[in-house]
Amino acid sequence: MGRFHRHDDGEWHTHDHGEVHEHEHHDDVGDHSGYQTGAERIEVLEAIFDENDRLAAANQAALDAAGVIAVNLMSSPGAGKTTLLQHTLAALRDEYRCGVVEGDIATSLDADKLSGLGAQVALLNTGAGFGGECHLDAPMVAHALEGLNLDTLDLLIIENVGNLVCPAEFDVGAHHKAMVFAATEGEDKPLKYPVMFAAVEVVVLNKIDLLPYLDFDESEFAANLAKINPHAKIIRACATKGDISEWLDWLRTITAAA
Ligand code: MG
Ligand code: ZN
Repeated sequence: MGRFHRHDDGEWHTHDHGEVHEHEHHDDVGDHSGYQTGAERIEVLEAIFDENDRLAAANQAALDAAGVIAVNLMSSPGAGKTTLLQHTLAALRDEYRCGVVEGDIATSLDADKLSGLGAQVALLNTGAGFGGECHLDAPMVAHALEGLNLDTLDLLIIENVGNLVCPAEFDVGAHHKAMVFAATEGEDKPLKYPVMFAAVEVVVLNKIDLLPYLDFDESEFAANLAKINPHAKIIRACATKGDISEWLDWLRTITAAA
């Protein structure tokens, strides 16, 4: 109820029904409604979320009917989602029939990197006139699913748009939510982006090869995450070096459990 968010600077707000707190912002890229008054905006956002949730359920039903397990993979830009996926697809290609929905504001750069790895790849450029370009939502993913042959897939990974805020609020119909978090981002981020960190089952702590050069305090990160999400599992990884075995094991676990 009353979900509402701003995401140009990482501030987030959740409101039950009532007034919307207005803030001064230099740009309004995060406003999905375009409505001026708080009450009107709440109503519109509720309708958007209701419609989104309805389509997310339909997406999951389509995935279930085809026997596909889907993971919504989120992160900030540059955390390493695509690199993780490159190594994931290469490692699992003989075990599972994999598909990827590749969400990007613009370009096919990431989708191109994932071609030739035995997976079906559907590209979604969110800047092309959908409701919000800074996240994937259920209607966009529904569109992408139509372009995939779900009956020939076992595992679908949905690479969301790089953004630590609103992707966590838009259910797309995936069975699992995971995120990639680079050690370069700092141990305070679970506290600053609580909606995202609360939403995921798994945090892939990436770029651990850089730990000797960073101030990153891994135990403080774990403690901050535990405050927001005591059930989240941290998986250490170095995607650039293909050191992702614990992540692969998690994917095997969720796929086998289905
Ligand atoms: Mg990417
Ligand atoms: Zn957004």
